[in-house]
Amino acid sequence: MTRIVYVNGAYKRYAEAAIHAEDRGFQFADAVYEVIEVLGGRLVDATRHMARLDRSLSELTIAPPMSKQALLHVIGEVVHRNRVSDGIVYMQVTRGAGPRDFSLPGPEIPPTLVVLARAQRRGWADELAKTGIAVKTMPDNRWGRCDIKTVMLLPAVLAKDAGRRDGAREVWFVDDVGVVTEGASSNAWIVTAEGVLVTRQLDSRILPGITRASVTDVAASEHLKVEERPFTVKEALQAREAFLTSATNTVMPIVTIDGKQIGEGRPGPIVQRLRSRFHQVAEISAV
Ligand code: PMP
Repeated sequence: MTRIVYVNGAYKRYAEAAIHAEDRGFQFADAVYEVIEVLGGRLVDATRHMARLDRSLSELTIAPPMSKQALLHVIGEVVHRNRVSDGIVYMQVTRGAGPRDFSLPGPEIPPTLVVLARAQRRGWADELAKTGIAVKTMPDNRWGRCDIKTVMLLPAVLAKDAGRRDGAREVWFVDDVGVVTEGASSNAWIVTAEGVLVTRQLDSRILPGITRASVTDVAASEHLKVEERPFTVKEALQAREAFLTSATNTVMPIVTIDGKQIGEGRPGPIVQRLRSRFHQVAEISAV
C-alpha cells in the first residue's frame, strides 16, 4: 500500500512530498512536534496532545498552522488514507521557509505542517512489558527548555544510541546533583518501598508528558499516592519498581538501571496494574 503524508495542504505519496530546503525546521530545528497513539483506529489523549502542541507553538511564537478542528480533520484523513488501525500519528509544525537568517521572519512566512501516520503491530509493547526493559543513566546535556516539545532531538538520539549499544532501550538523563530529570523520550517514575509513585515535578528540565498526566489519573483511580518531586539515581536503585511513560510505550516496566536490578528484577504489580488500566482511563476519541 502506498503511504501518504500530509504536507502544507496536500496529501502526497512519500516520493512526491517535499519540504523547502530553507525550511527553518531543517535549518534551525525551529519546529515543534507531537506524537499521538492510534488504538483501534482511534486517538488516545488527543485533547491533551493538542493542548500541548498549542503551548509549544505559543512558547516559540510560531503561529498555529490551522484551527484545532481542521488539524484533527487532517489527522483523521492521514490515519484513514494510510489504513492505520494501531500505531502513531506524528505531526510537526515548523516556523516555515525563508532565506536562511537567524532573525525570526515576520508573519508573512506561513508555518509548515507535516502530518504522517505509521502502523505498529498491536501487542509489540505488551511483549516488551512482559519482561521489562533496561535503562542506562547519562548526564543531561540538553538545553534549558525541555518543557517545549521541539524537534531539537540530537542529544536524545545520541544518548539512546549509546544506551542501545549497552543493551538499554532507554536512557535516563541525570542532572549535576544526581537527580533524574526524564528519559530521552519518556518520563521517569519509581515506586518507593511504601508503594508511593514518584515522578519529577513539572519544570523547564522535563517535557510535560501526556502519558505522565494520564497515568496520574490512573493512579488516582487506583487510590495510589503520587509524589511529584526530584529523585536521585541512588533512590531509584533502591526503589521497589521503576517504569517509564510515553505515548508510544504507555507504561513500560524498567527492571535494571545501569545493569543493577530494580526490586525483584521483573515487572512489579503496581506497574502492571497501571499498564493494564491505562487505556481504560485515557481519553479515546474517534478520528
Ligand atoms: N519526555 C521526552 C523527552 C519525550 O520525548 C517524550 C515523548 N515524546 C516524553 C517525555 C513522553 O511524553 P508523552 O507521554 O507525551 O509521549
